[in-house]
Amino acid sequence: MVAIENKSPGKDISADDLATKFPLVARKTGRQKSRFTVAGVEFGGDLVPVFAGPNMVENEQLIVTTAKAVKKAGAQFLRGGAFKPLTFPYRSPKYNETREDGLRWLAVAKKEAGIGIITEVMEERFIDKVAEVADILQIGSRNMQNFPFLTACARAGKPLMLKRHFGCSLRDWLGAAEYLLVEGNEKVILCERGVVAPHTHRDSSRFLIDLQVVPAAQEVTHLPVAVDPSHATFWRPWVAPMALASIAAGADAIMIEVHPDPTNAAVDPLQPVDFEAFDDIMRRMDTVARAVGRRILA
Ligand code: PEP
Ligand code: MN
Repeated sequence: MVAIENKSPGKDISADDLATKFPLVARKTGRQKSRFTVAGVEFGGDLVPVFAGPNMVENEQLIVTTAKAVKKAGAQFLRGGAFKPLTFPYRSPKYNETREDGLRWLAVAKKEAGIGIITEVMEERFIDKVAEVADILQIGSRNMQNFPFLTACARAGKPLMLKRHFGCSLRDWLGAAEYLLVEGNEKVILCERGVVAPHTHRDSSRFLIDLQVVPAAQEVTHLPVAVDPSHATFWRPWVAPMALASIAAGADAIMIEVHPDPTNAAVDPLQPVDFEAFDDIMRRMDTVARAVGRRILA
C-alpha cells in the first residue's frame, strides 16, 4: 500500500480536512490500518470477516437455520434487521419489522450457532436494547448524517458499522465517522453499499457499487472498509461477481444477504442468495482473497 501523506488528499478532501475536520479518522503518515477484535474476530488484518444473513429477522426458525448455515460456510457474523428502515409505511403480516421479537430470535441464533451478531439500530431509544444482543451496531445509510444519533450510538461503547449514505461523498462519510471516534469509540467499520447514479444497468437497480471508494478511503483513513454488494446491486446474479471484485479491490469485510428461500424473502427478495450459492461465494472469495494477500476461510 502506498503511504499517503496528508498533503496528497483525495479530490474533495483537503489537507486541512485531514488535519482539522476528521483528524481521528485520518490515516497518519506511517500509521497502519486500525486492527481491532470483535467477538474474537480480528478486523484490519489478513482475514476479511464476513457478515451474512437475511435482510430481515423474519422468524426464529429462519434466523437460527440461517445462522447455522452461514457459520458452517465460514461467516463470522450473522446479519439481519429486527428494526428496519422500510421504504414505505404500510405493513402486512409479511412486510413488518419484528423489533423486540427479532432481537430475541437473534439472541437464540447467536447462542445456538455460536456466531457474532450485527444488526441495525434505527432510533436512540432502542440503542441499549439492540446493544444487548449485537456485537456490532449497524448504523444504516439513511442515518449516516443523523449526527445526534451518531453520538448516541458511539456512546453505547459497542463496535459500530457506519454504512455510507447513497448520496454522500467520501468526505461526508469520513466526517460522520469522526462523530463516532470523537466520542472515544475506536471500533468503527465503514461500509460501502452503493451510490445513486444515472446508469444502473437494470430497471430494478437503484444503486451503483462504488468500488473505487475502497482504495480511496483506505488512502485517507485507517478504518476498515467493508462492502455490501447485496444492497449495492439489488440483484442476486450480480452479488457473487461484485463480492469477488470487492475482495480484489481490498475490502476489509464483506456483507452478503443470505436467505433459505430467497424469492420468498419478506424484504428485498431480488438480492439474497441461498445457502448453496453462499457457500460457493465463500470459497471463490477465499481464492481471490489469497491472490491479494488476504483470506476469507481459516
Ligand atoms: C441493511 O443492511 O439491511 C440496510 C437497510 O442497508 P442500507 O442502510 O445500506 O440500505
Ligand atoms: Mn435492505
